[in-house]
Amino acid sequence: EAKEAGKARHAVFEPAMYTAIMQRLQLESDLRAATVAPESAGLFLAYQPIVDLRTGQMRSVEALLRWHHATRGPIAPMVFVPVAEHTGTIIPLGNWVLETACRQLVAWRTLWWSERWDPASMPSVAVNISGKQLQEPDFVTTVADILARTNAPAHCITLEITESVIMRDTEASLQTLRALKTLGVRLAIDDFGTGYSSLSYLQRFPVDVLKIDRAFVEGVSRGGSDAALARTILTLGETLGLQTVAEGVEDESQRVQLERMGCVLAQGYLFSRPKPADELTAWIRSRAEASPDAWKAAV
Ligand code: C2E
Ligand code: MG
Ligand code: MG
Ligand code: MG
Repeated sequence: EAKEAGKARHAVFEPAMYTAIMQRLQLESDLRAATVAPESAGLFLAYQPIVDLRTGQMRSVEALLRWHHATRGPIAPMVFVPVAEHTGTIIPLGNWVLETACRQLVAWRTLWWSERWDPASMPSVAVNISGKQLQEPDFVTTVADILARTNAPAHCITLEITESVIMRDTEASLQTLRALKTLGVRLAIDDFGTGYSSLSYLQRFPVDVLKIDRAFVEGVSRGGSDAALARTILTLGETLGLQTVAEGVEDESQRVQLERMGCVLAQGYLFSRPKPADELTAWIRSRAEASPDAWKAAV
């Protein structure tokens, strides 16, 4: 036992470990500082189109948090979001994400009107919500305040919550999701297929969208179990009257296979990478100019 303890104590002084701990603490404090003025701290949103697989037409966009750190450069959300969740800074950051996405939605709607583009092609916006936010007692009030402050139409906002978060405390989740639905927002289960939902619960949840996790989409054109699972989720969505979105479509063979399976909505690098708002606006504009007839409102 003494030997074990000695080893453990020795491990604490490994320089690599010391560096890792210092970096982690620095990240925590940088994130805390970033909540005061997220934009000046290098945080911004990238937006990735969600398209109709059959036509490539954009239906909505997912807002994805990005961080260009002053000294460390870009840091992936898979790295910093869990840190922000751990320290609680995801609460103010998540609120800022939602508010920013709502303002951008309103800006795009204004653009649509001024360009006289077909209102039917106006995108809605999906925003990722952390389990920590969902657990906050005043989360529903916060969402209502943000909608009111930004004038964003609730039915054009989708809140994405991962399956594992919803399943962690199903009864509490159910109550919060019901309250969110009364605001008029849409709800999506993110990374669906990875969180072991019980089917009876799924039926009770007031959700609108299932997002098929990238893990299943990856192997979809090879057949086998990934394809079978993707097919099962699509059938499930159809049975429950939910929309399904395939995540992470990277190549044409995946697109074709998903289309054959009856999947309608998808996002992935094949269609577009996530882009900052102004770049996505330019992307939208170039597509509207390339096929003006398709963008004209039917009168
Ligand atoms: P997610 O919500 O499932 O988002 C989809 C992820 O797949 C994004 O990664 C997106 O960039 C990536 N992706 C899209 N198409 C493709 C593709 O064709 N191939 C591949 N390989 N990847 C693709 P990203 O932006 O790195 O975000 C990772 C995760 O971080 C998100 O997964 C979400 O769980 C979390 N996240 C991002 N932004 C936020 C946020 O504002 N709040 C919270 N709470 N979590 C966020
Ligand atoms: Mg998501
Ligand atoms: Mg996902
Ligand atoms: Mg994911």
